[in-house]
Amino acid sequence: MELFAGRKAVVATMHGKESVIVPAVEKATGLQFVPTPAGFNTDAFGTFSSEVARKDDPRSTARRKCLAAIELTGCEVAIASEGSFGPHPTIFFAPADDEIIVMVDKKLELEIAARTLTTKTNFAGAPFTSWADAEQFAQTVQFPAHRLIAKAGKDDLDGIVKGIGTWEELKEHFDHFLGKFGVAFLETDMRAMYNPTRMEVIRETADKLVTTILRLCPACKTPGFDVKEVVAGLPCEWCGTPTQSTLAYVYGCSKCHAKQEQRYPHGKRVEDPMYCDWCNP
Ligand SMILES: [Zn+2]
Ligand SMILES: [Zn+2]
Repeated sequence: MELFAGRKAVVATMHGKESVIVPAVEKATGLQFVPTPAGFNTDAFGTFSSEVARKDDPRSTARRKCLAAIELTGCEVAIASEGSFGPHPTIFFAPADDEIIVMVDKKLELEIAARTLTTKTNFAGAPFTSWADAEQFAQTVQFPAHRLIAKAGKDDLDGIVKGIGTWEELKEHFDHFLGKFGVAFLETDMRAMYNPTRMEVIRETADKLVTTILRLCPACKTPGFDVKEVVAGLPCEWCGTPTQSTLAYVYGCSKCHAKQEQRYPHGKRVEDPMYCDWCNP
C-alpha cells in the first residue's frame, strides 16, 4: 500500500508474537518492521499472572504499548496485541480468549484494530493435592506443548514459578508447593510463546487486522474502514418480527464522515424462530 510502503514499523511485544504478526502485515502493507528493542518490557503494562495489574481496558493498554514502542524506536507505526482470559461472556462454563491487535500510525493519526473472541483456549487453573490429579490436569491442558505456572494459591504469588515445560520440572515444583503449603495451584501459562493455541488465535487476529487495514474508505481512501455500529433486527423466519440478531453492520471512516451499511453480514436473511420474542417467548 502506498501509504505504508517502506515506512518503519515495530511490534511492541516481548513474547514472540512478532513471528505471526510481522509476516502477514509486512506482506499486505509493505511496512518494514525493525526488531523489537531488547529492553522493551511489556510486563510493565500488566501480566497475566497478575504480578502487575493491567490498569486500562485491553485496547487502551495495546495503544499505550504502541506509543511506548514508537517513542523508544523512532518508528512511526507500531502494533501491539493484548489477550484477556476468563469465562466466555455468553457461553456458560466455557473459558474464552479475547484477543485484540491494535496498529497505531502516529504520523497519519490512524488507529486500526481487530479482535477475536474465541473458546479456542486451554486457559485453566486449579489447586491440587494429589500428583495423579495434577498429571491428569496437565494432560488436559496439552502440557508440555503448552507450559504451566505453579504457585501456592490462586492469588498467592509468593514463589510463583512460570514457564514450566517438562514433566520433571512440573513434578519437582508440584512437590515443593505441596510440601511447603499443603497444596499446589497449577495454571496455564498464557504467554504467547509458551501457548501454541493462543499463538494461533493471534495469527488469526493478525489476518483480520490485515483485512481491516486493506478496507479503504470509499470516499477518501483512508485504510481501516471498519464496523462502527451493529444494527439489530434480523426478521424472524416465521412471523417477520425484528429479533435482537444482527441485521446490518455500519462501516465508517475515522477521517471523514463516510458511512456504508452492509446488510446480512453473516449471510443470514432471516432468524430462527427460537430467537423470536413473539414465536418463542
Ligand atoms: Zn474517509
Ligand atoms: Zn417470530
